[in-house]
Amino acid sequence: KLSQRLLHVAQHVPVGARLADIGSDHAYLPVYLAKKGLISFAVAGEVVAGPHHNATKIIAQEQMSEIVQSRLADGLAAYTAEDQIDTVTICGMGGPLMVNILSADPQKLAAKPLLILQPNVGADAVREWLMNNYYEITAEEILSETGHVYELMVAQPVANIKQLSADEIFFGPKLVAQKDPAFIEKWTRELHREEKICTALTAAGKTATPKYQEVTAKIVQIKGVLADDD
Ligand code: SAM
Repeated sequence: KLSQRLLHVAQHVPVGARLADIGSDHAYLPVYLAKKGLISFAVAGEVVAGPHHNATKIIAQEQMSEIVQSRLADGLAAYTAEDQIDTVTICGMGGPLMVNILSADPQKLAAKPLLILQPNVGADAVREWLMNNYYEITAEEILSETGHVYELMVAQPVANIKQLSADEIFFGPKLVAQKDPAFIEKWTRELHREEKICTALTAAGKTATPKYQEVTAKIVQIKGVLADDD
């Protein structure tokens, strides 16, 4: 039942983890891990009542209620220090929303849990947050599933953070170094999208606008990375 996307996320969760899955509409990820005996405890946090009820129902159906607790809460408020959470997963939402959730209450990350994040869009915002909050990206994956390209990243707390370059923030430090086929697919598609916008702005005589500047800069940046075959 688990999508390839969540399966890849699951593979990064340390065995025996005490997990908080935030935005856990069906609790698929924690239930999958609990059934396999791969985690010792999980909180499935969800802010909307309907999805929260779904999660609660599925946990009960799968008889995993002793390991996975369903909680209606906004972001990291789903757990307390008593839960001794050591791993946090946030998947299937936009990067900026993820950043809001991670920044809302710094106390929640005081125990420095491992973070496994799968932003749908705006991954650059997440990478910037991680760098500014002393989290080093230790693994990244990009995968293509049913016409969508997904990115996921694993981040660990560190005392000394390595500054990422603009390209590393935008494309991902590991992904830009590897350039998997899914990476080429994603950025070729993005390049075409930006080029269309550029053509439209030119046709509309809007070449002296900040938007045009932004789009042309992005085109140069993407072309630079796609052309680079080191
Ligand atoms: N994590 C699952 C996955 O990857 O398949 C579900 C993804 S679903 C598209 C995003 C879920 O996050 C929704 O159910 C939404 O209600 C929930 N969500 C959004 N903001 C949230 C927040 N601040 N706290 C908890 N859950 C949130």
